[in-house]
Amino acid sequence: MDHERMNELISSYLDNELDEEGRRQVEEHIEKCPECRKEYGEMARFEEVMRKMTLKQPSKEAWQVYSESVYNRMERGIGWILLSIGAMIILFFSGYQIVKGFIEDPTIPVIVKAGILLGLAGVVILLVSVVRERVFVNRRERYKEIQK
Ligand SMILES: [Zn+2]
Repeated sequence: MDHERMNELISSYLDNELDEEGRRQVEEHIEKCPECRKEYGEMARFEEVMRKMTLKQPSKEAWQVYSESVYNRMERGIGWILLSIGAMIILFFSGYQIVKGFIEDPTIPVIVKAGILLGLAGVVILLVSVVRERVFVNRRERYKEIQK
């Protein structure tokens, strides 16, 4: 029997598609023929790996690990956003109090009042920008991850 035909038989053998006679033929041949025995070994290993993969459902596991890492990152992103919003509220509030005190103080020159207002506006804009960057970068990273 030629090796090519035997290869087909070995494949069927591993898939349990052979009858008694076919199985016996394959077993006898790989007993005698080192080339086909090697082929049989490789195919069997491949089948084994395939079977394990199907049993373990790695895609499900991989998905779980993946979604957990996304969740962690999202959690951290949300933490950052909350922290920034909290900081902004405190800044707005205390800033408002300070500004109110300054504006209502007639002894402070108008130019200093304007300077304080501008400075505060700058701080607020910077904070908003930082928050927006965090959100944007997180979203882009997640998108990249999905594309892989
Ligand atoms: Zn052979």
